[in-house]
Amino acid sequence: MTARSTLLLAVPVSWAGLWTAPLAELAPDLNIVVHERDKYDPKTIDYALGFRPEPGLLGSLPNLKVVFSLGAGVDGFLADSNYPKQIPLVRFVDHQLSREMAQYCVMHTLIHHRQQRMFDGFQQERKWRQSVPPRHTEDTRVGILGIGEIGTMAAERLRDHDFKMAGWSRTRKQIAGVESFAGHDELAKFLGRSDILICLLPLTPDTRHILNAKTFAQLPKNAFVINVARGGHLKEQDLIAAIDSGHLSGATLDVFETEPLPESSPLWSHPRITVTPHVAAISDPRVMAKNAVDGIARHKAGKPLENVVDFTRGY
Ligand code: NAP
Repeated sequence: MTARSTLLLAVPVSWAGLWTAPLAELAPDLNIVVHERDKYDPKTIDYALGFRPEPGLLGSLPNLKVVFSLGAGVDGFLADSNYPKQIPLVRFVDHQLSREMAQYCVMHTLIHHRQQRMFDGFQQERKWRQSVPPRHTEDTRVGILGIGEIGTMAAERLRDHDFKMAGWSRTRKQIAGVESFAGHDELAKFLGRSDILICLLPLTPDTRHILNAKTFAQLPKNAFVINVARGGHLKEQDLIAAIDSGHLSGATLDVFETEPLPESSPLWSHPRITVTPHVAAISDPRVMAKNAVDGIARHKAGKPLENVVDFTRGY
């Protein structure tokens, strides 16, 4: 008989029930302990599941074998300078998550393209004003920064609305109907052809504050920005300045440098900025639990883990 393994759930205690119930159902043989709720001996922890565990926690578990992220982005783990990089970190990759993210991108691209905010204003004023979009989709160039799991699906769905698509990544891509730009040397050219810019990059030292005054200056006049990746990608003051100067036409933001977005933030009330509270995709806790349970089974069976983070790339 093999010994029971123990999984440490490192999430806010008030949320823990979202995952403990499906974990217990899917893996009745797994011991589950919740950090800061249950007493446990660090030596007994085999696996960990969390999103932004407190710095130093994972490094203090001497027998840890695999860490599972509850999110697609793992910047919350890598921000911990004591993260034990000899332990594999598995990020959350899920078709439903990618689909919801792609939906968000399509929705906000179309809201902008079809000038829906302008019609909302007309409705408020009870004004019957007919207008057509200034451009057809075929003439509107959408650029996606980060053409990985989520960026590829967003690009394909937008392409199917006939937008002229391009993606920027580290390595060259071959996606039908999506022009590929790769590496730092091709960034300026990519930005110069993007009327709508969508950020779907992981947050790494290379991509932090990539949405800044210089980037915005390289976009065509009246370009629109959608940031759905991480708040750390955007210099918020530079965005406001680029919109107020008339260079950018507006932005949609789902993620922020400080979350929850402080009440005092000027982003809340800016007339050309749409704010959503990090809800572009809400993952199903059961699917997240299954992802970890399947990973543990693979690890125990000696099979290679899937979606393991490459610490040298940072994602
Ligand atoms: P992914 O599959 O790892 O794709 C990342 C993409 O970014 C890849 O195309 C990669 O290029 C590119 N990239 C990374 N560093 C780069 C650099 N320095 N220069 C150029 N390209 C670079 O990630 P994903 O699953 O699509 O997720 C993307 C991000 O979305 C996550 O990290 C997370 O921050 C965010 N997210 C947000 C929400 C939300 O609710 N708002 C939900 C889920 C995810 P290569 O293909 O060449 O490697």
